[in-house]
Amino acid sequence: MQFIQIFHSVTTCNDVLKGTMGDKTRPLVFKIFTKCPTTKARTAHMTLLHGNVDTPVFMPVGTQGTLKGLMPQQLEELNCQIILGNTYHLGMRPGIEILDEAGGLHKFMNWKRPLLTDSGGFQMVSLLKLSKVTEEGVEFQSPFDGSQSSLTPERSIEIQNAIGADIIMQLDDVVKTTTIGPRVEEAMHRTTRWLDRCLAAHKRPHEQSIFPIVQGGIDIKLRTQSARELSKRDVNGFAIGGLSGGERKEDFWRMVTASTDILPKDKPRYLMGVGFAVDIVVCCALGVDMFDCVFPTRTARFGCALTRTGQLNLKQKIYQFDYKPLDESCKCSTCQTHTRSYLHHIVTEETIACHLLTVHNIYFQMKLMSDIRDSINDQKFPEFVKNYMLNLYPERNYPQWIVDALQSVNINLK
Ligand SMILES: [Zn+2]
Repeated sequence: MQFIQIFHSVTTCNDVLKGTMGDKTRPLVFKIFTKCPTTKARTAHMTLLHGNVDTPVFMPVGTQGTLKGLMPQQLEELNCQIILGNTYHLGMRPGIEILDEAGGLHKFMNWKRPLLTDSGGFQMVSLLKLSKVTEEGVEFQSPFDGSQSSLTPERSIEIQNAIGADIIMQLDDVVKTTTIGPRVEEAMHRTTRWLDRCLAAHKRPHEQSIFPIVQGGIDIKLRTQSARELSKRDVNGFAIGGLSGGERKEDFWRMVTASTDILPKDKPRYLMGVGFAVDIVVCCALGVDMFDCVFPTRTARFGCALTRTGQLNLKQKIYQFDYKPLDESCKCSTCQTHTRSYLHHIVTEETIACHLLTVHNIYFQMKLMSDIRDSINDQKFPEFVKNYMLNLYPERNYPQWIVDALQSVNINLK
């Protein structure tokens, strides 16, 4: 273990390019370390062009080429190995020309570690009222000058090739999670057709890996069919999309587990847009390796700190005379330096409060992931999950979906 860590810390991009590590033709090498004998959880080591990522991993979201409230160097200090950038935002501003000239997003924002970008489709459908999906792509009215424009699978890959992230996403046909009927099936099939167009348009296959996205709404047959169809493509990893958008938790976990049952075991599985700690713990047990979500940074901006027993809203008056740290067991710089009382005093008033809470929340997510990985590596993951849930629900009043999801992978909470 020690040897591997030292070995990877001295590995450079050139080593990967020269093929001294892994497969020269693959910009992503996924090596499974430990499989949990009880659940579907596993730990793995992912080698990318810009560095290594230990999975299961949580990826903070840096929408505009910056993580709100933190500097790139602080993200490194927080042991953050990979972050996510939004193609829609970056494609609009600064735009593909500036990114190209800057030599890609890594250089532009001075982030040397791995990056992942989304396709831009989700933002387009969720942010722009005037968007319409056709077989060609997503048509929309520019929010800047009102002109008619479109995001096609080819254009999404062109922008993502310019951004230069290690992992890039196919453009998928996104429907609201709560949609049912023929539109869901149409979107699922179109997503597969768009994947093939994305793969054909990809100009940097030796540096960037395209992940297909499993769709199919909350219909188990469509999910299964989607996962089967996408698995036929020669790609380096897969994503599960279209969840965590207001569907019932009962449907959520069943779609996740149906997907991980089919997707190739030797490749990473990325569950998009999921970042609540409890969801991460359950979905690791269901075999997910990668997560992302704006939640930990967004909630920090609203004055909320994450803990293993729930959230603290620092705006509340109860913290006025509370001289404890946010979390007594937390080793982050905020908890080592400041009290709840002080944070209550400055919260939502001063930008430094947003910064201090963001540091704590990212530290919280990173520590959760390293505890999950350690417990899997030590063959103690089921015990970790049970303790985690008991800590969160000391009365043992576990939500039924958690009981059912964990039961499906042989963890009995009751
Ligand atoms: Zn802390």
